[in-house]
Amino acid sequence: MEIDRTNTNNNDDILVVRNLKKYYPLSRFSLSKEKAFVKAVDDVSFTIKRGTTMGLVGESGCGKTTVGRTILRLHEVTGGQVLFDGKDLATLPSGALRKLRPQMQMIFQDPYSSLSPRLPIGEIIGEAVREHKIVPKGEYRSHILKVMNDCGLPSQYFYRYPHEFSGGQRQRVSIARAVALKPKFIICDEPVSALDVSIQAQIINLLMDLQAQFGYTYLFISHDLSVVEHISDTIGVMYLGSLVEYGSKESVFANPMHPYSKALLSAVPVPDPDHKMNRIILTGDLPSPINPPSGCKFRTRCSSCMDICSKKVPQLREIEKGHQVACHLYNKV
Ligand code: SF4
Repeated sequence: MEIDRTNTNNNDDILVVRNLKKYYPLSRFSLSKEKAFVKAVDDVSFTIKRGTTMGLVGESGCGKTTVGRTILRLHEVTGGQVLFDGKDLATLPSGALRKLRPQMQMIFQDPYSSLSPRLPIGEIIGEAVREHKIVPKGEYRSHILKVMNDCGLPSQYFYRYPHEFSGGQRQRVSIARAVALKPKFIICDEPVSALDVSIQAQIINLLMDLQAQFGYTYLFISHDLSVVEHISDTIGVMYLGSLVEYGSKESVFANPMHPYSKALLSAVPVPDPDHKMNRIILTGDLPSPINPPSGCKFRTRCSSCMDICSKKVPQLREIEKGHQVACHLYNKV
């Protein structure tokens, strides 16, 4: 059954991404007259409900970070729509986009390089609060101290500098900087992958506590499926710039359908010494997004590849309720 994954007037949906494309031209380096592009994001569509978390997973280089940055227009959109609370960010004039910026924040992977080493953390957290006049002048300091407290940072840290903190504390500062702007939507781009495992759990729990308290919506980008399983309500699996599977966490983890998702999930460790891992090893490298394979982009690494797979691009279709897959194996379903 073909479905319209993006048709919505639903006020529950805070973010609706329709056919998002981000291409980078390579014409200056090409000998041929035809323009070449790196198709980093190619026709990606999904919806995120208010107050929920969507996990976006895939190997590095699959385009998941570019999806996040393009949604926020840190990169210009090549094609498609990004409806945030009904407004299309892809075409919004820069003045209007600037006004909307505080509502959409991003937490980056490396908390050290994303924090200015010259500013004390009170100023790092508060700089944009002042700039966007998030609270009246007289409430500025108490607002920053409250946000620090919410993020597990004692008030005496206000005048300390980023180099005085551990990686986990620096990530708390990054989170505090984002939530100080009272956002609705936060993109977390591999926020724990640079941290020790014990600290990862603390940061994930902090993000979940803040969501429960303030109703934030997250797009959580990660290559670590155990982390994504813990925090997400819905999951999107990306391969070479496209979504290949999308559904609720329960349906994707209990019943992965796309051969690529099956391989990714087969590598997730299970905390049971009696559990026998049947790991599916993917052969070959990720193909170049400049010249991807015809038909299904995964066919050069797929053990179930059929004739049709090189001829026809599989479309993302609903195979079971709320669970969509782009694979010709399910054409007759
Ligand atoms: Fe494999 Fe074909 Fe499905 Fe692609 S469409 S994942 S090549 S079976």
